[in-house]
Amino acid sequence: MLAFACPVCERLLTFESTSCLHCASQLGFDSRRRAMIAVGRSGSQDPSHRCANARLAACNWLVDVAGQLCASCVLTRTRPNDADTRGLGGFATAEAAKRRLLFELADLGLPLEGWHEREGGLAFDLLSSEQAAVTTGHADGVITLDLDETDPAHRERMRLRLGEPYRTVLGHMRHEIAHYYQPILVPEGTPAQARCRELFGDDREDYRQAMDRYYHSSGASAGWKQRFVSAYATMHPWEDWAETFAHYLHVRDTLQTASAYGVRVEGPSIKTDDAAPLHSRPDDVEEGIATLLEAWIPMTFALNAISRSMGSPDLYPFVLTEEIEAKLAFIDELVRGGGR
Ligand SMILES: [Zn+2]
Ligand SMILES: [Zn+2]
Ligand SMILES: [Zn+2]
Repeated sequence: MLAFACPVCERLLTFESTSCLHCASQLGFDSRRRAMIAVGRSGSQDPSHRCANARLAACNWLVDVAGQLCASCVLTRTRPNDADTRGLGGFATAEAAKRRLLFELADLGLPLEGWHEREGGLAFDLLSSEQAAVTTGHADGVITLDLDETDPAHRERMRLRLGEPYRTVLGHMRHEIAHYYQPILVPEGTPAQARCRELFGDDREDYRQAMDRYYHSSGASAGWKQRFVSAYATMHPWEDWAETFAHYLHVRDTLQTASAYGVRVEGPSIKTDDAAPLHSRPDDVEEGIATLLEAWIPMTFALNAISRSMGSPDLYPFVLTEEIEAKLAFIDELVRGGGR
């Protein structure tokens, strides 16, 4: 994420700001120019209306014509009904995570066509499980999210039950969008698909059997941490792709934020023989996975230490091995090639 300043008084804002705490200007986000804009200033060329979901989805994105949905909200095909107040609260939380997701996808130059633009285009069904069970997942361009996942208590219960080190709404979004991008970035019958199968395994493996095996018999194999970024990634090659792709998005976004705020690591302050000295300069990251990981690994050491100082869990509770880095390198090539 980038840093944003108030266009009127130049004080710092967040991506979610709707007004300036300093000068009280009403603000919105112009997703085309990727800038924070003062709303309703006469004579300006900027989009000057709030998204039709401004209140319902706590959306701060702007549109050209009053009553329109913004570029993010328009991708949502289904939401909780107006009487479901709990569901609607979760809906706003999910939409906020989705806006962060979409900002990054645009930033990386990844292609995106919505369900309103073409058949099979990207759609989000953000569903309350108040009436019936909802399964989070992706199928044929439709990402379904169980809005219970926006409830921290529910999410923590699920995290503990599944033995995950980390579970967030944005993480769900990044995992599911990975499924959407796999056939786009790795087309059927191409050398990329062959390489993908070498790295992640043969995705023709029966998915239902893989799921049964993972949940009802063997679970993740011993020693999985050497090859997989998470236990869930061991279930099926598709899930390995999605888990690893989500990590790639975590890394790119977090390094961009560090760079935007001028965060660098030059340490630690003690003498250490550690193989990886803590030098991270995220604004010097060049194309390719090598400099990206050179900046990322030391940054995670420092950020985890800082999180622990606040009594919080590690910001990045994962270990990247050479095998996992090779998968990330492949994804990096695809994103840079398939994007811009
Ligand atoms: Zn201001
Ligand atoms: Zn909106
Ligand atoms: Zn998945």
